[in-house]
Amino acid sequence: MILDQFKLDGKVAIVTGAGRGIGQAYAVGMAEAGADIVCVDVIDQAETVGKIKALGRKALALNADLSKGDVEAPRIVAETVKEFGHIDILVNNAGIIKRQPFTEHSAENWNLVLAINLSAPFFLSQAVAKQMIKQGKGGKIINIASMLSFQGGILVPGYAASKGGIKSLTMLMANELAKHNICVNAIAPGYIATENTRPIREDAARNKAILDRIPAGRWGTPEDLAAICVFLASPASDYLNGYTYACDGGWLAR
Ligand code: NAD
Repeated sequence: MILDQFKLDGKVAIVTGAGRGIGQAYAVGMAEAGADIVCVDVIDQAETVGKIKALGRKALALNADLSKGDVEAPRIVAETVKEFGHIDILVNNAGIIKRQPFTEHSAENWNLVLAINLSAPFFLSQAVAKQMIKQGKGGKIINIASMLSFQGGILVPGYAASKGGIKSLTMLMANELAKHNICVNAIAPGYIATENTRPIREDAARNKAILDRIPAGRWGTPEDLAAICVFLASPASDYLNGYTYACDGGWLAR
């Protein structure tokens, strides 16, 4: 039956940035679909772990600073395999944004955003893909892009470059990993109400300009994104590979 293809029973998923916001919604959504979840973040993840366990699923919280993705990736894979024996799904969700005009944008801001938003998904995907190939049962890797994978934005050069890069990396990974039955896709969230977007929601003029341009007429919620994550993590999307899917209330169509 078609709905059975969306089930994640017996799957193990790693979600980075699972402590709050959209990452928490991805983690809880996949747990609702049947997966056990490894939550990776620098902040406390007790709330996310509590929600997963309340669903009867298992959760492992790992504290890792993904600005050092090359160091942390092998440890995250090793600890996941030690606890659960296998990895089926990776969601590269952790991300930051630094707002500073292009001409003043500091090397520190540029390097940190690129390290967390682009380099960490590269290192973690590489380590996870090696494990998936060893397991021989395929897998799903989901990167998190942005409207700024398609547009330039203002004041956020590192963020725009990292999210443009993640869209390209998603295609490259899909091309190389498809023969191992590993599907790689990305989700491009529109304007979602989280901590990440609090400063622009609190700016009345920016908030109005954004709302006026969203055909749906509202900010998205983390829960709006959970369903597409479950879909891309599940067998229902087995023939989808290398694409970046916008979930944006119609923003890009405008
Ligand atoms: P958020 O700030 O609420 O959550 C990001 C999470 O990543 C946090 O839990 C944070 O602790 C974690 N994180 C940050 N730095 C880390 C590090 N060095 N190591 C490990 N974890 C770290 O943001 P969000 O809005 O939930 O964003 C999640 C993802 O969605 C990001 O990749 C973001 O770029 C993307 N996104 C968000 C929006 C939006 O409108 N909110 C739009 C497009 C894309």
